[in-house]
Amino acid sequence: MSLLDVTGVVLNRRDVREDSRLYTIFTHERGKLEVFGRGIRKGKAKLGGHLEPGATVRVTLAQGKTGETITAVERDHYPVATMASLAHLASLGFTLSLVDAITKPEAPDPPLASFLQEAIGTLEHLDGEPDDHSRFRMWVAWHVLDRSGHSPELERCVHCRNPLEIEGVRFSALLGGFLGPECITADAAAQEVSAAVRNSIRQFVRSAWPELPAFPPERDVERTVADLTRLAMDHVLERRLPAERFVQFARTLS
Ligand SMILES: [Zn+2]
Repeated sequence: MSLLDVTGVVLNRRDVREDSRLYTIFTHERGKLEVFGRGIRKGKAKLGGHLEPGATVRVTLAQGKTGETITAVERDHYPVATMASLAHLASLGFTLSLVDAITKPEAPDPPLASFLQEAIGTLEHLDGEPDDHSRFRMWVAWHVLDRSGHSPELERCVHCRNPLEIEGVRFSALLGGFLGPECITADAAAQEVSAAVRNSIRQFVRSAWPELPAFPPERDVERTVADLTRLAMDHVLERRLPAERFVQFARTLS
């Protein structure tokens, strides 16, 4: 039996069998892991209390025949204020689900692990205004898409790779990127986006939360950015079969 310590954020947990749980943890050392907490809903209840989604934990794992099992937990950080607010919980859920959906198991990505902790820390100090949460989610979405290599390129045409001009640029959900005026025939459904919209997305991708402009862009710009955020996420996420991961769990359980 080999032991291993890892540190990361709990993304998800599911009850399995009568008394156990399967935890998804995004770790600095090994990326996303799925590990068992055996007997965690009964005797080791104290162990399970530390492993709530959103908590940053240090866990010790033991390799068994059917997967890795948690043998010890230390909690590094717990977002107390977030847990007390439904709006914050929804933003936390969005963040954890996105990282879970966009990453593959056992693919280390320390910058993404650090960003996840940064995002949870940011959320913990966020005001409760709906607009703040909407901006927070967009900031998270563009960072996660970008850091996981799924962000549409902002400076080049997705079709011909030419640098994008300021005017006449469209966003193609189909191609997952921006089209210059020379390539609009590549996707007739692509929608035109203003320079202000692309600039706002660029800010979301490149800025830490405190660096974002204090005054958000105009309403219609922000609404278009929200639409494009959804389209970009759909483009990435729909290519993943939801069933695929479930089959993997099922295999580790047998
Ligand atoms: Zn082009």
